[in-house]
Amino acid sequence: MMPRATIAQLSEILALSPKNLSEKALATLATGISTDTRSLMPGEVFLALRGENFDGHKFVRSAVEKGAIAIITERDVDDKLPADFPELRVADTLKAYQAIASWWRDRFPIPVIAVTGSFGKTTTKELIAAVLSTKGRVLKTQANYNNEIGVPKTLLELGPEHDFAVIEMAMRGRGQIAELTQIAHPTIGVITNVGTAHIGILGTEEAIAQAKCELLAEISPTAVAILNQDNCLLMETAATVWQGQTITYGLEGGDLRGELINLETLRVEGLEFPLPLPGRHNAQNYLAALAVAKVLQIDRTPLTAGLSVTLPEGRAKRYELPNDIVILDETYNAGLESMLAALNLLAQTPGQRHIAVLGTMKELGEKSSQLHRQVGAKARELNLDALLILADDPQAEAIAQGAEPLPSECFKTHADVVKRLKEVVREGDRILFKASHSVGLDRVVNEFRQLE
Ligand code: ATP
Repeated sequence: MMPRATIAQLSEILALSPKNLSEKALATLATGISTDTRSLMPGEVFLALRGENFDGHKFVRSAVEKGAIAIITERDVDDKLPADFPELRVADTLKAYQAIASWWRDRFPIPVIAVTGSFGKTTTKELIAAVLSTKGRVLKTQANYNNEIGVPKTLLELGPEHDFAVIEMAMRGRGQIAELTQIAHPTIGVITNVGTAHIGILGTEEAIAQAKCELLAEISPTAVAILNQDNCLLMETAATVWQGQTITYGLEGGDLRGELINLETLRVEGLEFPLPLPGRHNAQNYLAALAVAKVLQIDRTPLTAGLSVTLPEGRAKRYELPNDIVILDETYNAGLESMLAALNLLAQTPGQRHIAVLGTMKELGEKSSQLHRQVGAKARELNLDALLILADDPQAEAIAQGAEPLPSECFKTHADVVKRLKEVVREGDRILFKASHSVGLDRVVNEFRQLE
């Protein structure tokens, strides 16, 4: 909805000297910046973004019809505009969007917490937001708005009602976290870990570590870094780019050291916290949130009564079916470290038998087979009772090979997995479902749940 700015102000932010705009046009107050005519409200400025599959310049007419008071473009549009309609022409509309968002963010002198890392970004963002909500109103990244368009979109939602903002930052290559940091101007930077997610794009874990640590390289020197001390590569890389104030956390060490009493309870600095989400990896994520509270001097004692956090679909979802059958739905995504974390959680979940239904992990490049074999080896080490694999690509074989001599079964279709699972499942079973998003293992979960 925000920001509110006159066309003259927007021109100034974009370093334009608008020609042919009347005094009246320049003084017109915009009530927001919209990039989508489907949600554009009268009084907003329409900014024409261009992507691989869309071009906002084609929707200018519709924007004007819906009440846009000005447009921001980077090329001529085919539609005929009303006479004297304010148009701000920039070289790059995405950069313009980011510049406006950054300007708007700077109007709010509140803590802005950026969260990046290979795994657990969304979870940690949600945990931080939940902790901060005990103290004030929080703006947080919604859905997958964690990239060069999503971060500005989120920042543009800032309003005087907000006390904190928690911004998730994702990357698919070098330079992207730096760019997002330059837009969001975080006051606290959290890096959850460095692992092999998307290693196919960056090549090595060292390169991934450097890319994540761009957050520290670009953040204000007066900001505070919150880092997972259990992750050696992260700590080593961070030290090469950051000398500012740092709070470390971890289960093995750190300024804020947690002790996992059981899957659902964490002890930190003499207090016992029920974990909002179970498992060792989520204990680390929660420690990051508690570290944010510590930096912001928020009383953590009320959190010992518990905190309810609901994650988006496919992450840390637990479904209890009839006959004491429990599903752990982690189908949203998978990489090596998150597979290992989820398999550990499965094995530690009390129950009769432990079954993993796995699919492949994408974007792992030349290390893919090796990493898939490691997943199989983990299933063997944990001595799971059954391993069912959706073999949508040849890497599925590597999971099965890594698991040997633990028997596993590969299936070509989602329906075949559901059929087999139905045959093998018994009372008291615990079943984990996990694969990369594109494998579509969520369909198996849904179909299986309907059958029960
Ligand atoms: P993506 O970039 O794919 O959206 P993300 O970094 O936002 O992922 P989450 O969505 O929070 O991460 O979690 C994805 C999966 O990673 C979870 O389902 C869980 O299995 C696992 N996970 C969460 N936190 C950690 C962690 N600290 N270490 C390892 N694995 C984790």
